[in-house]
Amino acid sequence: MDIEKIRADFPILSTTVYGKPLIYLDNGATTQKPKCVVEEIEKIYYTTNANVHRGVHYLSQQATDLAEESRVVVQQFINAEHSKEIIFTKGTTESINLVAHSFCQQFCVEGDEIIISAMEHHANIVSWQLQEAIRGIKLRVIPINEKGELKLDELQKLISSKTRLISVMHISNVLGTVNPIEKIIEIAHAHSIPVLIDAAQSVQHMTIDVQKLDCDFLVFSGHKVYGPNGVGVLYGKEKWLNQMPPYQGGGEMISTVSFKGTTFNELPFKFEAGTPNYPDVIALGTAIKYIKNIGLDSIKAYEDQLLEYCTDELLRIKDIRIFGTSDKKSSVISFLVGNIHHYDMGMLLDKMGIAVRTGHHCAQPLMEELGIEGTVRISLAFYNTKEEIDQLVAGIKRVASMFG
Ligand code: PLP
Repeated sequence: MDIEKIRADFPILSTTVYGKPLIYLDNGATTQKPKCVVEEIEKIYYTTNANVHRGVHYLSQQATDLAEESRVVVQQFINAEHSKEIIFTKGTTESINLVAHSFCQQFCVEGDEIIISAMEHHANIVSWQLQEAIRGIKLRVIPINEKGELKLDELQKLISSKTRLISVMHISNVLGTVNPIEKIIEIAHAHSIPVLIDAAQSVQHMTIDVQKLDCDFLVFSGHKVYGPNGVGVLYGKEKWLNQMPPYQGGGEMISTVSFKGTTFNELPFKFEAGTPNYPDVIALGTAIKYIKNIGLDSIKAYEDQLLEYCTDELLRIKDIRIFGTSDKKSSVISFLVGNIHHYDMGMLLDKMGIAVRTGHHCAQPLMEELGIEGTVRISLAFYNTKEEIDQLVAGIKRVASMFG
């Protein structure tokens, strides 16, 4: 990979903060956008702006074609069988809420159980807790071991005749653990239980093939895959999506409406009520083409090298504690140094131009499990470099020396 050439595609990477060159290590929160994505959005508004699926006129047809082409780009990206299995949403959070609401409405009664894990992001906890309150379902939680890995033998024990769905993250946004989703899906399917994979932290780092995985649902956000904000994806197997009721009512999700009753549109439109965010849907396609062009395998190999280098360098720092020490990790490192508060570390690194995330990372139950309030988190992307990591490590050492 030609990193200098790649970095030139991201104008923000040559910006300065407090007079220092920006070192952006908060890619798990959101990724920066290549020029082609921003230019695509501008191009749509300047040349092709019209509401999709509604007009017979030229611009509406053009915009509709581009948005539907983007659906095919996403389909091919995760190798879904049909493009109608790709539902555009606002992001991972909305995708999980859609499944929680609609799946539970159709398939769950009071006392039924959904299994999640102890390391989930709030999006994959609270969406189900809302269903606990509405329908009286119960959440069961797969525990983790001291390395920050799921205890799969406990999963076996949690499964019962009441289990309706298992919903787990692929890669932890705090620990960096790559969860054994293939195994989880195999275990679940042996009991005819469907599985939702939260791929918010994985699709941008490795090749995902939903048919090979055989997952039932998979969700991710556009803004974490170098695409625009406000657009995300829900992949669902046709057989599930067909049985699930619509999540929201409005334009485009209907077939006919009368005061006597309404019939619903077919997939994927049944789940896309109202004017979709078509400019960002189209630009998400551009972002995916961009990363496919670099190559997910090359991205993974490069980022794995960076992760190893960064971990080794961090481990040289006195009194550092890294949370998440699995052998199978990707792109995320959470740590604390001595008694230095994560917030102080983040603020001081920021003054050196280094952007990291601090806090609970929307995973408060995990923080409770780890017995801490929060961590400093580095999350890598393919445009980061070893030199940036060297500066990060020097920065952390400086902060540590300030605290004695
Ligand atoms: N799931 C995971 C694993 C995440 O890391 C995030 C965001 O950080 C989300 C879900 C929520 O994503 P969004 O805020 O884009 O909906």
